Amino acid sequence: MNIAEQQTLGHWINGEWLSSQDRGTFTVHNPVDDSAFAEVAEGSAAEINMAVEAAHESFQSYRNTSVNDREAWLARAAALLEERRGEFVDLLIDEAGSTFTKAQFETGKAVSFIRAAIGMVRRVSGETLPSDYPGRLSLTWREPRGVVAVITPFNVPLIKASRLCANALATGSTVVLLPSEHTPVIALKFAQLLNYAGFPPGTVNVVAGNGYKIGDSLVTHPLVKSVTFTGSTVVGKHIQELCAKGNKHVTLELGGKNPLVILDDASLQDAVQGAVRGMFMHQGQACISSSRIYVQKGIYPKFIEIYKGAVAKLGRGELRDPDTIIGPIISDRQRERIRRHISDAQEKGAEVLVGGDWDGNRCEPTVLLNVSEDMECFAEETFGPVVSVYVIDDLDQALAAANNSRYGLSSAIYTSDINAALRYAKSVEAGMVHINGPSITDEAHVPFGGVGDSGFGREGTEADIDALTELKWVTVQMNS
Ligand code: NAD
Repeated sequence: MNIAEQQTLGHWINGEWLSSQDRGTFTVHNPVDDSAFAEVAEGSAAEINMAVEAAHESFQSYRNTSVNDREAWLARAAALLEERRGEFVDLLIDEAGSTFTKAQFETGKAVSFIRAAIGMVRRVSGETLPSDYPGRLSLTWREPRGVVAVITPFNVPLIKASRLCANALATGSTVVLLPSEHTPVIALKFAQLLNYAGFPPGTVNVVAGNGYKIGDSLVTHPLVKSVTFTGSTVVGKHIQELCAKGNKHVTLELGGKNPLVILDDASLQDAVQGAVRGMFMHQGQACISSSRIYVQKGIYPKFIEIYKGAVAKLGRGELRDPDTIIGPIISDRQRERIRRHISDAQEKGAEVLVGGDWDGNRCEPTVLLNVSEDMECFAEETFGPVVSVYVIDDLDQALAAANNSRYGLSSAIYTSDINAALRYAKSVEAGMVHINGPSITDEAHVPFGGVGDSGFGREGTEADIDALTELKWVTVQMNS
């Protein structure tokens, strides 16, 4: 499907499609071959302002809607997305370069995130408190923050839009969504779906455009009360500074360089599976992919032999073929970084165990050995199908290596020794740890997020009740 042949998409503001004031557009490309996929209005500060004002206006009434209505609209949105799953799978394949399997996974997760948000609606509550003063009734309640700016990356555009819009709407806030310039169509179509589901115009608005040019005008807009950003660490830190200056609440979900440790007593089959799935889903373009693998010396030779075979035969066919695992890399910028990391490692003496070459916009799944600290891929996020495997003596060495990173998002360990597993979980500097399972996993209600340069705050249904609402303390002095 080529949306460009059918229409030029506008921004989605106040429940309507709007062109940019200067009529400017930009082309969205299909990452498989860089052909034109869609033509989309290119936003400026003017459209950001219109979207924020629409969200602010809508918030005045939306904040007072009944919990019944909000639950019904969320339930309808989940049902509609399930009904129209095929359409969103197509978008995820053609706009984001997802494989069929990843697109199925992402649409399924999005439905589950919206359903989970239904349960948040009645939990936006407070408590009654004891008081120092006789006859004083002291209580708290939670109020929605107001207009929330949601800024999303290209790799999981529907997962991020669904979770963050649904959670904001569940708690009574309204949204301006700025999607990645590589994947605006998915966000625009999702916002329209929310409107079909019953959410009033202006509750979710989407401005398409280049975040590097217009992001600041969104983050610093005086009517934006809270910002939730998912993307690279460098942009996240810039947004954090802007939010600090404006005294705005901010949640940051940033990059990762996630360690996976395999001890001698691990199930080799499970560990290989975890190292393949945990690294190569969406061709390594995942914040929680296991791009550093530490294998204990006893199991190392066998692991390398089996892992090499498993990686070499990962499917690279048509994206709609369910056996395809490796798809294209989204953009020239991302491709250049991946190429640089591989060539830099090779020039400095790394061994390419498997992969290293390209077929069009697809990078072969690549396993590097003998990676050292002077190589870019040692510490920096590659965000592509490139993994470094290291041999380690014991758990202590694994822990020291795992913690030798500025990132701290997800982490995994394979072992049959529960004490070793728990010691690792306790000592590794990461927001999430998985024992005998891959580093790539997420659920609607868990606190998702990282430490260090991987983020600030958590998201998920529980965490977002805190992040998206403000506590108010209220007292009533009763007559004696
Ligand atoms: P990016 O930082 O380049 O862009 C992310 C979004 O920010 C895009 O919508 C972009 O347009 C926008 N943006 C850019 N400059 C801005 C500014 N000044 N103000 C406001 N918005 C601005 O990231 P990307 O390349 O799209 O995504 C890849 C990165 O995202 C990786 O580092 C990955 O690890 C991270 N990521 C993190 C998570 C997580 O949950 N921790 C999930 C997915 C992706």
